Amino acid sequence: MLKGKTALVTGSTSGIGLGIARALAAQGANIVLNGFGDVEGPRAAIAALGVQVAYHGADMSRAAEIEAMMAYATTTFGRVDILVNNAGIQHVARIENFPTERWDAVIAINLSSAFHATRLALPAMREANWGRIINLASVHGLVASAEKSAYVAAKHGLVGLTKVTALENATTGVTCNAICPGWVLTPLVQKQVDARAASQGVSNDEAIRQLLGEKEPSMQFTTPDELGALAVFLCSSAGNNVRGVAWNMDGGWAAQ
Ligand code: NAD
Repeated sequence: MLKGKTALVTGSTSGIGLGIARALAAQGANIVLNGFGDVEGPRAAIAALGVQVAYHGADMSRAAEIEAMMAYATTTFGRVDILVNNAGIQHVARIENFPTERWDAVIAINLSSAFHATRLALPAMREANWGRIINLASVHGLVASAEKSAYVAAKHGLVGLTKVTALENATTGVTCNAICPGWVLTPLVQKQVDARAASQGVSNDEAIRQLLGEKEPSMQFTTPDELGALAVFLCSSAGNNVRGVAWNMDGGWAAQ
């Protein structure tokens, strides 16, 4: 379905980004990976699906590096057809104890990076009259939790950016939508499970049960593969007129 298209997925060396990159590659899209940590494992996993794969290590908190990454993607594959703004970090602390440097980093990586990548991707998408921009927001783009001020502010902002991007391109073949997962068991969440297990003196399994029990009625994690399938739907022709939505996959979290 996506043969001949190029998808750039930020923060795709791990977790949800890697799951989405795999799902788009399985549909035939060439992939530009980005992110820190192990690159060769993800690169091999994508190449095994029979598509071309490239990597750029831009730090998504830096506009100049995002510009270099977008230029690299264009030089390598000609154009970015699908942009998935996924890179993200978390920091958990009450507002009065929140380190200002962490606030700046969360806003830069979880929100401003999507603005920069989007503004750089749009001209070529509009010229081709086809494009998909998918912003990995969160159920925290729709509702709040205590001790996550920067994350909740960034994700609400990202849902707003999604709507504006959708409206500014509404008469074209370029769509923009947000995906809003509840809990997904990735390294980002395992850190929160570990912190809870340590602070409560409970096992990993009990910490997971508590975490899900507080927020997620289904008592189950959403998986990167399920999120990948939603991204594929948004890239399909059935998604041609899906514009500016924030689609939660959250086990009923926001329905409460
Ligand atoms: P993860 O920690 O597994 O992956 C994050 C990715 O972002 C990694 O590839 C990492 O290298 C990359 N990254 C981090 N900082 C970066 C930077 N400065 N520059 C470039 N890359 C950087 O996390 P995840 O759970 O897969 O999260 C992916 C996205 O999904 C995030 O935006 C997160 O907020 C969102 N999300 C996650 C959950 C969840 O429960 N895990 C729920 C809702 C939304």
